[in-house]
Amino acid sequence: MSSLNQKTVAKPILIEGTGLHSGKSVSMKILPAEPNVGIVFKRVDLKSNNIIIPSIFNVSNAVLCTTISNDFGVKIYTIEHLMGALFGKGIDNAVIEIDNEEVPILDGSAKEFIIEIDKAGIKISNTPIKVIKIEKTIHLREKTKEISIEPTKISLDIDFEIKYKNSLIGSQRNNVNVFEDDLTDIYNSRTFCLFEDIEKLKTMGLGKGGSLENAVVVKDREILNEGGLRNSKEFVNHKILDCMGDLYLSGYRILGKITCSQGGHQLTNHLLRQVFQDNKNFSIIEVQEKTVPNTLIYKSLLKSIA
Ligand SMILES: [Zn+2]
Repeated sequence: MSSLNQKTVAKPILIEGTGLHSGKSVSMKILPAEPNVGIVFKRVDLKSNNIIIPSIFNVSNAVLCTTISNDFGVKIYTIEHLMGALFGKGIDNAVIEIDNEEVPILDGSAKEFIIEIDKAGIKISNTPIKVIKIEKTIHLREKTKEISIEPTKISLDIDFEIKYKNSLIGSQRNNVNVFEDDLTDIYNSRTFCLFEDIEKLKTMGLGKGGSLENAVVVKDREILNEGGLRNSKEFVNHKILDCMGDLYLSGYRILGKITCSQGGHQLTNHLLRQVFQDNKNFSIIEVQEKTVPNTLIYKSLLKSIA
């Protein structure tokens, strides 16, 4: 069996928690699925019209979190950290059963999703993976925010920068090679907000489940969470996790280089919509298995087709 074949979780995973914005209790199962199913969400609290596909074209709101909706207006929001974990772990196929409208926030990072996926194990199929290869550079600027995606041979690089007026957050930049680097710091980095924004969120009816248990809260030059930060670039690393999750709404893993300054869910979605509106911008490659099942040949195999 090769890591170039499609993967799913080896057994069902149960995750329970609270929605960050809704504040509602939610129970979610990540279930194994057959090859070529992809990632599919199912709202089990509803009897019909309850399937929602995490596709860039189903994103109905991406202002504070990524929300997907089906044609019947049935929604699931805050899917990005779970999608980032599935992307990073190479899970091609899974059915996510969920009994409410929001994915549990847990500790605000992807840490628990990763722990549970590792505990359940990964089942590798006989069906080759497919990847998206970016063929043309696309650049997008919206006011002070900027993002681009450009072709690479075999890697996915994410170079992300944030600039905050708050001097504790300040400017942070990090660059990861998603398929090769140790992503522990990325998975463990929590969502964050400024103390003064909490009231605004609550007035908007959002952030009802928010607490110091699931978000880093910054007040002036102080981090209100006991224990401080988990890593020195936790703010930008969380944005990279969000970006990975949002990229997975393209359906497959991607070969390309993302460079983003000040962006977020919405900008990533706008970029991907532009990429996929013209099939000259990308190609979808089925990676054919050749000989030995050995992850060491991963690169050379990909090189030979890329
Ligand atoms: Zn996030």
